[in-house]
Amino acid sequence: MKTKLADVEKSQNIIDFLAIGTSIIMCLEASYQSDLGKKVLMIDKSSSFGGAWKSIKLAGISNVENAIHYFMPDKIGIKYLIEDLKWPIEVSKKKYRYFNFFNLFYFKFKYSSVIGRLIDKLIYQKKFATFFNVIKEKGERSYYISEGSVGMTNRVKKMLNDRNIDIYLDSEITEIFFDKEKKIVISKVGNKTIISRSLMIGHGARLPRITHSDGTFEIKEKFHPRPAYHLVVNDTSSSDIYEAIFTSDTLIKYVHDVSRFSSLKEISNNTKKVFVFALQSDVLDHLGLKDKLFQKLKDIKIISKDARVIDSLYSEVILPTLDDNDLSLLKEEFGDMVTTLKTENFANGIGYYAERWRSIQKC
Ligand SMILES: Cc1cc2nc3c(=O)[nH]c(=O)nc-3n(C[C@H](O)[C@H](O)[C@H](O)COP(=O)(O)OP(=O)(O)OC[C@H]3O[C@@H](n4cnc5c(N)ncnc54)[C@H](O)[C@@H]3O)c2cc1C
Repeated sequence: MKTKLADVEKSQNIIDFLAIGTSIIMCLEASYQSDLGKKVLMIDKSSSFGGAWKSIKLAGISNVENAIHYFMPDKIGIKYLIEDLKWPIEVSKKKYRYFNFFNLFYFKFKYSSVIGRLIDKLIYQKKFATFFNVIKEKGERSYYISEGSVGMTNRVKKMLNDRNIDIYLDSEITEIFFDKEKKIVISKVGNKTIISRSLMIGHGARLPRITHSDGTFEIKEKFHPRPAYHLVVNDTSSSDIYEAIFTSDTLIKYVHDVSRFSSLKEISNNTKKVFVFALQSDVLDHLGLKDKLFQKLKDIKIISKDARVIDSLYSEVILPTLDDNDLSLLKEEFGDMVTTLKTENFANGIGYYAERWRSIQKC
C-alpha cells in the first residue's frame, strides 16, 4: 500500500534516498537502490510522471510526446536498453535532412546519406570535409524506442510499482538542509519534512535554497531554452517522413511526426496528425508563428496542401540547469549525502551506469 507523505514525515524514519524528479534514469537508479534493500522515495513537483519524458494531452489526443526525443549513439547505453532491459529500441526511421535552395524550394537527403552530410558540412556549417572524412565519421545514427516516451515511462513505472517505491507528484522540494554532523539531509516538501541519508540529484533538478551546518551553498543555474511547438493537423494524405532536420532555418531545428506514439494509433480511420517542433532557442511565441510553422510543413511536403490546423501549443522548454561541474561541487561538499547522476544526455547516462544496473531484476 502506498505510504502517505504525511506518514513518512510522522514516522520520523530516515529514508535512504530522496530522488528529485521522476526521469527515466532516476527511476532506473531508484530501482537499483531498492534491489539493494534501500528505501527510496521519489518526489516530483510536476503533476506528470517522467520528467523530460512525460507525455501530454492535446486536442483530446493523449500520449503526445512533450518535446522532440531521440537517443544519441552510445554503444553501451543502447546495448543495455536492448539486451538487458529488452526495450524495443530501433534506429530512428524515416529521418531526413532538409536543405533550402535559395528560398525557392527544399530538397532532402536521408539522414544517413553521405552526400547530405557532406553538403551540410561544406555549405551550411562551412566546415572543411571530404567525402572520405564523412564516410569515416561515426555516430551518425540516432535511436528511439518504438513505443515512444509513453512506453518508456510505463515500463519504468512498472519497475517502481513492483518494488513498492513511493512516488509523489505535485510535490516540490523547497528547502534543503545538509546536517554534516548527523550525516542526514532534511528536505522541506510543502509543509512536510523528509529526512534522508542521501539526495538523488540529476542535471534537471531545480535546487532550492541549500543550507548546511556551516552556512549556505550557492549554485548558479544555467538556462538553455529549447522552445517546443505542437501542431495538431487534419490531413488525409500519407507521408513517409517521421523526422525532419532543418538546415540553417531561423525558426526550426527539427520537427517530428509523433502521431504513431499517441492515442491516434488506436483510431482506424484517423485523419489527424501531431507534430512537435524543436524551435531555435531565441524563438518566442508570437502572432503568426503557428501559420509559419504550418506553412513549413507544407513546404517540405510532410502534409498536403489541403491540411488544416486543429490545435497548437507553444511550450517554454529549458534544458537541464545544472552542469557536470555543479554536480561535482555538490558531491565534493556533501559527499555521500548526495548521489549525483549524469542525466544530461540520455543514452550516455544509461551507458554510464549500465554496468552497475546490470543486476536490476526486470519485473
Ligand atoms: C523536454 C526535454 C526533452 C529532452 N529530450 C531528450 C532526448 O530526446 N534525448 C536526450 O538524450 N536527452 C534529452 N533531454 C535531456 C534530458 O535532460 C535527459 O534526457 C533527462 O531526462 C534528464 O533527467 P533529469 O532527471 O536530470 O531531469 P528531468 O528529466 O528534466 O526531470 C527533472 C524532474 O524533476 C522535477 N523537479 C525538479 N526540481 C524539483 C524540485 N525542487 N522538487 C521536486 N521536483 C523537482 C521536475 O519537475 C522534473 O520532472 C531532454 C530534456 C528536456 C527538458
